[in-house]
Amino acid sequence: MILIFKGVVQGVGFRPTIYRVATRLGLKGYVLNTGSEVEVVVDRDVDRFIDELKKELPCIAHITEIIKEPDKRTFSDFRILHSKKGEKKSQIPPDIATCDDCRAELFDPGNRRYLFPFTNCTVCGARFSLITDVPYDRERTSMIQFPLCADCSREYKDPQNRRYHAQTISCPRCGPTYRLYDCDKKEMKSRDPIQEFARHLDQGKIGVIKSWGGMHLCCILGEVSRFREWYKRPQKAFAVMVRDIKTAETLSDLTDEERSLLLSEKRPIVLVKKKTAELVSPGLDTIGIYLPYTGLHHVLFSFLSADALVMTSANIPGEPMLLGNDEVFSLHADYYLLHNRDIPNRIDDTVVRLWQGNCFFLRKSRGFIPDALPVPYDVSVLSVGAGENICGALSADRKIFCTQYIGNSKYYGTVEFLEHSLRHLMRLFLKDERLHAVAMDRHPRYESRGVAQKIADECRIPVVEVQHHWAHAASLLVDRHVDHSVVLALDGLGYGEDGNFWGGEVLGASFETFDRVGHLEYLPLLGGDQATRDPRRLVYALFRTTGNEICFNDDEVEILEKLVKTAPLSSSLGRYLDALACYLGICTTRTYSGEPAMKLERYLAVGSPRYSLQASVKQKIVGVHDLFEQLDEQLQRPLSETVKADAAVSLVKTLMDALTDLAVEHAERSGIGTIGLTGGCSYNIPITEMVQRRVMKAGLRLLVHRNVPNGDGGIAVGQNAIAGTRCSV
Ligand SMILES: [Zn+2]
Ligand SMILES: [Zn+2]
Repeated sequence: MILIFKGVVQGVGFRPTIYRVATRLGLKGYVLNTGSEVEVVVDRDVDRFIDELKKELPCIAHITEIIKEPDKRTFSDFRILHSKKGEKKSQIPPDIATCDDCRAELFDPGNRRYLFPFTNCTVCGARFSLITDVPYDRERTSMIQFPLCADCSREYKDPQNRRYHAQTISCPRCGPTYRLYDCDKKEMKSRDPIQEFARHLDQGKIGVIKSWGGMHLCCILGEVSRFREWYKRPQKAFAVMVRDIKTAETLSDLTDEERSLLLSEKRPIVLVKKKTAELVSPGLDTIGIYLPYTGLHHVLFSFLSADALVMTSANIPGEPMLLGNDEVFSLHADYYLLHNRDIPNRIDDTVVRLWQGNCFFLRKSRGFIPDALPVPYDVSVLSVGAGENICGALSADRKIFCTQYIGNSKYYGTVEFLEHSLRHLMRLFLKDERLHAVAMDRHPRYESRGVAQKIADECRIPVVEVQHHWAHAASLLVDRHVDHSVVLALDGLGYGEDGNFWGGEVLGASFETFDRVGHLEYLPLLGGDQATRDPRRLVYALFRTTGNEICFNDDEVEILEKLVKTAPLSSSLGRYLDALACYLGICTTRTYSGEPAMKLERYLAVGSPRYSLQASVKQKIVGVHDLFEQLDEQLQRPLSETVKADAAVSLVKTLMDALTDLAVEHAERSGIGTIGLTGGCSYNIPITEMVQRRVMKAGLRLLVHRNVPNGDGGIAVGQNAIAGTRCSV
């Protein structure tokens, strides 16, 4: 019998497992990688073989389908046959945290990989970040710089060994090495550079670590204030890597689900409820925590006294993570722990938040990329995302493959990285197929459009412009496998069909078309981007007609008044949340994107709607100015923390109820049973729960994200589905 296994079956220890099970059962035949699949022939006991195999499957292997065909050939033994060359489309395994077996070896003084930071095996280690082409073999990874020694070579060739055909294995004799440098790029001679580096961290120094997919900056928690000053990030939340789950519990309250996601082989940064360490994420009630995932992390913590480290991507804000051993010295850290292996694919840590069993990806990257989302069309489309939190995507073979997290396209380095990552996806997954179209955002100023145009020109294919919030809605449809829904698309700013900036939208959406069913009232953004950076301008714009001046002197007011006529208009919920945070004195200056709205969340989580506000909805437009005025009449300053929380909930709940009601009415009129929620504001749990309650009360079903990022990181998926559907007609 021939068995064709589909799924994540390559580079994950699948073939040696097949070999071990087959030989143990005394079966005859062979196993063969065919590029995208694994072909197995066994002469008898097929069902028992499959049962046993499933029991022993390596943790990251995943069978999606088994095709069975009869076979009359006879064999004298069971063999692993050599792969067919040149096959594309094979599944590329993601970077997977050091497995338990490897960890045991790492701390076994008798093992030849004792304390060797690059220890890995068939089921664990860096892969995606090291791969330059397919099929996935050592010669097409950055491990080509390190020829296998005799011992490693023996392990690699032995089907009974757990490193059989593990493409990226090495040992202290043949593998990469870490070296320690000071701030003057001078190599520091020491018996053990990792131990030495740990000592400096414990003493309060700021370090840079080269990891699998990029560089991290780190310091102990006690140094976070100095670190903020030095890194010029006064408020932005940093992730914390903790020694173990016990340490995680001292910093945060974990649910069982969060605990198992932290411990999973993907090892993402999980946003969880903060207990202590306020300075790590000032003004937020969450903290991003993760566990060690590379051999280096484990060895480092074995030498450290500290149980937790601030550990954040080493980059210039908005730009991609630094990669080169030379360029990283421009950071001016105290110490650098660098290795000599190249990083062909930069990949950031994944950041995820759990809500009622759904994964809200703030950043989908290491451990999760590449993945394949099924789509209902078979044309190949490339999509480039929007302007911030960029992520690109490619469809091929009825699946969408996303790039890793790219960054903010205002920066040249990010645009280059986007193009590089898209071309890498094309190399890995496109094979000989041709592209049919390239999709991009309608915003004329997004730099990602240049990449779209360039590739479209090269391939002589059309460019499809997709409206931002329609793309958000479509990304949710792909995520939840539905072809249409009423969708609330709530975010910062996206370029609208009428030339204004949208972001508080109720859409009736399918892959073919969309209707703008309703939206929030427009607010002038005084000075355009300036209004986004300075939330006081938003508050001024809200109250200017009532003479309720906020924080500006006469000269400033004069300038702002002049800007009113030319100000772009925005219906963005994000901007109204910023305005509310500023108005209530929760956050009056913005030091990072989304800060005021994010800082509002901890108030929304505890307040109660005790101020009575009445939303006016005219021609499907929800009035907001009026709500602020109603609130203002009822508040007496100074505001206590409780008043701030109650006021925030009162206003936001009134808004969300009105928007959700518009969505519900449209759904009922059109016979649609679901209301979707997408866009950057849907990371906000209290807002998501306000929508959920209203949708459930109406007897409809709420769709939220599970696999595709809620925010602009998901835009490329939606663009792809819309352009792909159009090209398939
Ligand atoms: Zn391992
Ligand atoms: Zn070796």
